Amino acid sequence: MPDAIIEIDKVSKRFGQLEVLKDLTFNVAPGEKLALIGPSGSGKTTILRILMTLEQINGGHIKVDGEQLWHMPANGGLAPANEAHLHRMRAKIGMVFQLFNLFPHMTVLRNVMLPPILTQGVRKEDAEARAMELLDMVGMAEKATAKPAQLSGGQKQRVAIARALALQPKVMLFDEVTSALDPELVEEVLNVMRRLAEETDMTMLLVTHEMSFAHDFADRVLFFDGGRIVEEGPPDQIFTNPREERTQGFLKKVI
Ligand code: ADP
Repeated sequence: MPDAIIEIDKVSKRFGQLEVLKDLTFNVAPGEKLALIGPSGSGKTTILRILMTLEQINGGHIKVDGEQLWHMPANGGLAPANEAHLHRMRAKIGMVFQLFNLFPHMTVLRNVMLPPILTQGVRKEDAEARAMELLDMVGMAEKATAKPAQLSGGQKQRVAIARALALQPKVMLFDEVTSALDPELVEEVLNVMRRLAEETDMTMLLVTHEMSFAHDFADRVLFFDGGRIVEEGPPDQIFTNPREERTQGFLKKVI
């Protein structure tokens, strides 16, 4: 088996008194499609935010693509990464959030082409060509000149996916990307993600409440409860024959 692209080793995270992640340990293989499921408040979003370096950890170690996410000072504690290190680590990971976070005053095309120009020094013509390819892939090429306010929620989320891909990350994180959408718009976004999962060898982590989508999308499912992984396995096993009572109880409620 190839080396893990993400290594999470005994990670703990607290918000004040609240212990949100407890000795969390799991690895992700390159190209693996992983679904994180579990009750609200179980820590799924927090681990994605930690991987995006939007949150620090209180203990443990994380490596992404062979590099520590945080610098480890000589005294063994945890220290914030310096700017250059943060920048390099952030370039490895792209994230699409629950709420659309497009720049409202820019066209769809500029939303997708600008990040590579600003953060990676990509030439304008190259960024534009790549943005058009990605917009085509998510079925949004004919809306290239539209502003976000002219788009439906599903269309905005497809542009947000293209924008995250424009930075060519090694890992993509999807956090409840359909939960703010009207039901009739969910499927168009899931279709784009399904195609991505099938056609690219990018590593993907998905937090979702769409259990049938998690089943189709994932190579492996992690069931979180109370800041720990209670059970993990291939989707067929987790969804049709879960071993743990807590997994069974959760699935009974949501399916
Ligand atoms: P999930 O994604 O599984 O629903 P989260 O990772 O969002 O769970 O949240 C885990 C717990 O951490 C929840 O109890 C939540 O209220 C708490 N939490 C998340 N972010 C913060 C924060 N910035 N400050 C305080 N508490 C937080």
